[in-house]
Amino acid sequence: MDESDLLPLSALQHLLFCERQCALIHLEQVWADNPLTVEGTHLHEKADSGVQESRGDLRIARALPLRSLRLGLSGRADVVEFHRRPVGEGWQAFPVEYKRGRPKSHRADEVQLCAQALCLEEMLGEPVPAGALFYGQTRRRLDVPFDAELRRLTEDSAARLHRLIAAGLTPIAARAPKCDQCSLLEICLPAAPATSARHYFDRALRAALAPDAE
Ligand code: SF4
Repeated sequence: MDESDLLPLSALQHLLFCERQCALIHLEQVWADNPLTVEGTHLHEKADSGVQESRGDLRIARALPLRSLRLGLSGRADVVEFHRRPVGEGWQAFPVEYKRGRPKSHRADEVQLCAQALCLEEMLGEPVPAGALFYGQTRRRLDVPFDAELRRLTEDSAARLHRLIAAGLTPIAARAPKCDQCSLLEICLPAAPATSARHYFDRALRAALAPDAE
């Protein structure tokens, strides 16, 4: 694969959340902020500042450009820590990705982080066995080992992303609970905004509880 075939690494996150969302953003260039994406942007501000830090046995690179010709992906890592190995053995790369919210039931965050590790391995020519996810809501850092299963899922997801983009077809919408968390809900499903069912329920409940209700 060459440079012109590279797709954004961040698209993996969209793909694992919803193929239609991924196609709307990366094929149709649709985007919409909701409170969750705005919060995520603020969280990324420090990570995107390009600052490099060095503290003893730790070096920190921010907004580091990444690329993998094998996976056909390019992007940036929020933070890559480099931990000093024993004398003469160089530095161990350890990617850290900042996320809004809390750990999720699906593996999109881990796949995105693992894709960063696979890019680093290709660029540095050495293993990157683990990284971490930092969640804004819980303020917790979760270590993520890049085991064989996660690596396979990441490689399969990259291949699936390339097939989706090459096909050039946006999948049809299928309403699901996750749609209520989707920044594209009102563009994707304008007839069924997130609040309509809730408003209907609230109205019905108020009517049922009203003293003069039938
Ligand atoms: S609203 Fe639902 S189906 Fe539409 S893009 Fe978002 S998650 Fe996918």
